[in-house]
Amino acid sequence: MRAIRVERLGPPDVMQLQDAPVPSPAPGEVRVRVEAVGINFADALAVAGEYLTRTRVPYTPGMEFAGIVDALGEGVSGVQVGTRVAALGGSGAMAEYATVPAAALIPVPQSLSGAQAAAFPVSYFTAYHGLKTLGRGEAGEWVLVQAAAGALGTASIQLAKALGMNVIALASTDEKLDIARTLGADITILQDDPDRVKKVRDAAGGKGVPLILEVVGGKRFQESLDMAASRGRIIVIGNASREQANLRPVELMKRNLTVTGLWLTSLMNDAPATAEAARALAELVGSGQVVPQVGPTYALDQSVQAFEDLLNRRTTGKVIIEP
Ligand code: NDP
Repeated sequence: MRAIRVERLGPPDVMQLQDAPVPSPAPGEVRVRVEAVGINFADALAVAGEYLTRTRVPYTPGMEFAGIVDALGEGVSGVQVGTRVAALGGSGAMAEYATVPAAALIPVPQSLSGAQAAAFPVSYFTAYHGLKTLGRGEAGEWVLVQAAAGALGTASIQLAKALGMNVIALASTDEKLDIARTLGADITILQDDPDRVKKVRDAAGGKGVPLILEVVGGKRFQESLDMAASRGRIIVIGNASREQANLRPVELMKRNLTVTGLWLTSLMNDAPATAEAARALAELVGSGQVVPQVGPTYALDQSVQAFEDLLNRRTTGKVIIEP
């Protein structure tokens, strides 16, 4: 089969398309014929060796994907060969076949396409945990969504609206803000608008925003503190700027702010939180209230281009690779 291989860490062009044997499922695993791989900012950071965990090479990237169950390892039950599943594993999805523990499978409505199913796990579970599990957002509250046309941003807008929240969306271009509006964002503001801090505070009734999903980091993190309401909750989800941020704890005291980190990988080990997110998301996706946003789609031999487009802010929705 064809698979992407990374032998040394670096920019996207370290990824190479190679021939590899079709993997056999170990006990407890299933093999999936991969239809679509969801490409995350984290995949690009992992290839660069800049992710939260150390990347061991050689390896095949790709943490979330969807496809058709093709073979079951010993001891696997309750999974049907021939059904479409999504999966959230550690790596290995950028290939024609991938194996994952059966426990890493995420049931998806069979009405979703392979690409929609691959766009679902990371962005929608992260958005749910940011808005509800950790953010404790309530209907009628304002939430600020940064990078609003991206994979996580589009998921966050859809979910926030489905949960009855009011959304302020920030993004770098008018085209991206159009996408945010189409998905239901109530107020949209250009990320580089010179008056952005005031505009955001004014939009939320002049008192600042009670809940902020912070994904850019660097100097934008300080701005998030300035945009927050008294007792505001800032959920730190990403650092797309790849710049360091300064946090002076005294500033949190002055307005009773809360800063909470969110990493999906560690939250997935929290069984009750995962079960609650899965239940809520299954209902919203099943009823069509939330539709995973498929972005640009690439073939496996265009993987370098896909990663470069994602890193250079040229994409909206979830970047998909179809092997
Ligand atoms: P996106 O599809 O959102 O793409 C990244 C977007 O970030 C860009 O399109 C761009 O939007 C914005 N951005 C802002 N500043 C920069 C910059 N300096 N360089 C590049 N992009 C920038 O990607 P994802 O949905 O995969 O991820 C979004 C963020 O959420 C990332 O920081 C990611 O690491 C994080 N994340 C964290 C998770 C966790 O478990 N903690 C899980 C999922 C995502 P614009 O042009 O509008 O500014």
